[in-house]
Amino acid sequence: MSAALQLIDLTRSFQQGGVTIEVLKGVDLMLARGEIVALLGPSGSGKSTLLQAAGLLEGGFGGRIVIDGQEAADLSDQARTALRRDRLGFVYQFHHLLPDFSAEENVVLPQLVKGADRGGAGARAKELLDALGLGARLDHRPSQLSGGEQQRVAVARALANKPVLVLADEPTGNLDEDTAAKVLDEFLRLVRSQGSAALVATHNRALAARMDRVVRLEHGKLVEG
Ligand code: ADP
Ligand code: MG
Repeated sequence: MSAALQLIDLTRSFQQGGVTIEVLKGVDLMLARGEIVALLGPSGSGKSTLLQAAGLLEGGFGGRIVIDGQEAADLSDQARTALRRDRLGFVYQFHHLLPDFSAEENVVLPQLVKGADRGGAGARAKELLDALGLGARLDHRPSQLSGGEQQRVAVARALANKPVLVLADEPTGNLDEDTAAKVLDEFLRLVRSQGSAALVATHNRALAARMDRVVRLEHGKLVEG
């Protein structure tokens, strides 16, 4: 079976005021199916840049990106959109939930976009939100939820379509220490139980240690541990 994610000699640089900043200088990474890997590195080391590459959000990269056996460079725009929708899940530091929709609706919507029926999508949303302790908050809007609750909804949304790979960019970076640890543990438990792989950017070593493996961005290269 193909790996969930392969990055091969990935490079990325930015032009800034006539100067070229090389952020990724040849990154190699492989995530097996179901493997949960922490991406560690200080602020500015290129974690978000790497996750954006893996999420097929932007062009401008050198090297190869292979997701679930599909070579990104070979995909049409349409196929790339379908791959992102059907096989990837995203969690960001700030939840980006739709403010006018309830918690349940926020988790239902990505499933409808994929073609699920409303009943099945609702049942799946309830199951995920229940598992995250939000069974009594289904009808709440994001503004009626605490920060930790909002991030739990964002986690449920990312997992709604049972993605092969979840990309999480400092998913608990906006929460206090205790809440961050709790939300991360629930996230990891759910990801494991449904067999998704995950790449989770963090600058927190203690949180990184809860994952299967740790890789670290250092001067544009990836090192283990
Ligand atoms: P991290 O997520 O680890 O904090 P980023 O990937 O956001 O790091 O940024 C890595 C480096 O790339 C930083 O020096 C940042 O200033 C630079 N960078 C990121 N995005 C851009 C951009 N769009 N234009 C110019 N420089 C950028
Ligand atoms: Mg970042």
